[in-house]
Amino acid sequence: MTSSISERITQIRSSLPDSVRLIAVSKTVPADKIRAAYAAGIRDFGESRIQEAASKQAELQDLSDITWHFIGHLQSNKAKKALELFQWIHSVDNLQLAQRLNNLASQLGVSPQICLQVKILPDPNKSGWTVPQLLTDLPAIAQYKNLQIQGLMTIPPLGLDEAETLDVFNSTFSLAKTIRENNYPQIPMQHLSMGMSGDYEIAVAAGATMVRLGTILFGDRPEKAN
Ligand SMILES: *Cc1c(COP(=O)(O)O)cnc(C)c1O
Repeated sequence: MTSSISERITQIRSSLPDSVRLIAVSKTVPADKIRAAYAAGIRDFGESRIQEAASKQAELQDLSDITWHFIGHLQSNKAKKALELFQWIHSVDNLQLAQRLNNLASQLGVSPQICLQVKILPDPNKSGWTVPQLLTDLPAIAQYKNLQIQGLMTIPPLGLDEAETLDVFNSTFSLAKTIRENNYPQIPMQHLSMGMSGDYEIAVAAGATMVRLGTILFGDRPEKAN
């Protein structure tokens, strides 16, 4: 890529509807490039490792209006740290973790924004609720008063074609609608966190409200750092 981070951000931002929130996925990206993205107007950053995020956040403390989004698989022993470092957690993928976050949020006096990660198709490489399991767990989730359950997050399995990818995103959209129809006041389901560098245009067409873009903004990551 020959263009600069700021040129790429400007170009992609202008291609997205204003209502879609652009989260710059800065995992493996050093603090100076995060500053460049910030200077180009980005205020939402996504990270997938707690330790890495902690050290970069320390370096970037002066940028106090950043909203940090955790997007990686969250181990329960890191849940507390995640709540200390992140305002959003997109990757809450099972009931036990949701319950633990709710308890910890109460202790810490925070009310994190949460997305529930769903697997629309079977995928051994990804965690997340299956659709039936999520529908079963909803009444319990609705009791977790310290969590602000904002919506669903999904990642399609690797190797789908465009039509299959669109099906996954459309199914996620429908699932959010079904959940809204259950009318749990605690679960407004206004957001859909879906779309990465390779498929965000399809996700936006299917109703994504947040896209999580890494390589298309910052360039390729070192191998095995995904
Ligand atoms: C790494 C990652 C992204 C960004 O992926 P790109 O293909 O680089 O845009 C988005 N979402 C999640 C959950 C990720 O782990």
